Amino acid sequence: MLQTKINLKQIFAIALLLISFNSIAQPSKRDSYKSKAPKYIFYFIGDGMGLSQTNAAEAYLGSLENGNGIKKLQLSTLPNQGFYTTYALNRFITGSAAAGTALATGHKTTINTISMDAQRLQPLKTIAEMAKEKGYKVGIVSSVSIDHATPATFYAHQPTRNMYYKISLDLSKSDFNYFAGGGFKHPEGDGKTDEKYSLSNFGMGATEDIENKEPNSIKVAESRGYTFVNTVHDFKKLKKGDDKIIAVAPKLAAGSALPYSIDQKNGADISLADFTEKGIQLLDNSNGFFMMVEGGKIDWASHANDAASVIKEVLQFDKAVATAMEFYNKHPEETLILVCGDHETGGLALGFAGSHYDSSFNLLQYQNLSYEAFSDKLALYKQEHADNYSVADGLDMVKEHFGLGDASKGLQLSPFEMQQLKDAFDKSMTYADEMTKNDQFYLLYGSYDPFTVTACHILSHKAGIGWTSYSHTASPIPIRSIGTGASLFTGFFDNTDIPKNLMKLIENK
Ligand SMILES: [Zn+2]
Repeated sequence: MLQTKINLKQIFAIALLLISFNSIAQPSKRDSYKSKAPKYIFYFIGDGMGLSQTNAAEAYLGSLENGNGIKKLQLSTLPNQGFYTTYALNRFITGSAAAGTALATGHKTTINTISMDAQRLQPLKTIAEMAKEKGYKVGIVSSVSIDHATPATFYAHQPTRNMYYKISLDLSKSDFNYFAGGGFKHPEGDGKTDEKYSLSNFGMGATEDIENKEPNSIKVAESRGYTFVNTVHDFKKLKKGDDKIIAVAPKLAAGSALPYSIDQKNGADISLADFTEKGIQLLDNSNGFFMMVEGGKIDWASHANDAASVIKEVLQFDKAVATAMEFYNKHPEETLILVCGDHETGGLALGFAGSHYDSSFNLLQYQNLSYEAFSDKLALYKQEHADNYSVADGLDMVKEHFGLGDASKGLQLSPFEMQQLKDAFDKSMTYADEMTKNDQFYLLYGSYDPFTVTACHILSHKAGIGWTSYSHTASPIPIRSIGTGASLFTGFFDNTDIPKNLMKLIENK
């Protein structure tokens, strides 16, 4: 008995020793790293962009050239690669707020928290704020609303991501130099400054309500010295030297985001790459810049299991990376480019049970709008044909917008797929949002329009793409990098190591 005890103690001691040896023997690369700080830092974050999202885009490009291989994205040509874990403090599968906080501050936090500690009491300093202190100009760009979780974690400190109004006030308080992309979700606030006004105003008419209204956060930004532009004309006029700019896309889609790339019209829309390019122009100065660029709708399209829209979002994101690469080629000794993601979404797999070993990614080219645009069309149809809808009309619509049922495109429908579409169409025409949806309904359609998500699923499956979730997954995320300090971002580490490395890189600037 005694012997056993000693053995256990010894084992415990050895284990402790090994653990401490391990950390002594292998100091993190950043502890010993010595080099000058990069002058120009690009921090690209693909929201919901796991390895499979980029690989799907590469396989799609490859298949358009009639090959079985891939055509590399720009981001895949970056010479350094690493992988990292993404879990949040209180959940293995993270969300964009906790993941963004990790990527912005180097600290794990709780789900939905924006750059505050787990208890939501203390703000956590972000790499963008540190860059600002070090004299860099700072830009924050996103294809979703600029007060959304990922961009917010770089400039705001709020207990939850849903406090869009408070976040938008933090935006102009940051004094950062360039905010661009989507708009604001809630610039008007809730119309009341605090609880006591809402009580005193009870039954007292509108005048006092208006007086007590929270100030519009765009107006607040203007009073703090920002210039707000939201037309193509004004955006194009922005030139080197213009400072404290909030540039919002002229036409916003749902959630104050840029329209999906698959729905964007050349000329009328400003793309993520355009916003990135303008950022380079405005931020370039002798003290250097830090720019975070988020591809936010890779996540949204992945939630909806819309493979074609995911791929078009990844391609657009990659174009933004390409503009940074052009800049890098002119300043290779002074630039660092990081391309990463916050988590994977959808459990996207390049393979599906029903398609066995076959892949036909080229079939995705026949989808000509996003699930969102298709749902809008269907909602309109439902409104106009409440009493006389017909499944034949639905089938015509999926033929026109997904190619489904068009044998000349190789998209003939099997009886099983036809039945899936008919069932879903019936559900779409008869269900209401407030209806209780059972487990089966959720597994089939998530929280999406049944007919739309079924069309997305069938096209995905025919292409050889499978989905496991309408939510995020926990698979490790790749990071690609090039330039000054890029060697710190290789290996297998944690998401919090990325800003820790960046902070180390700029601490002696
Ligand atoms: Zn998401």
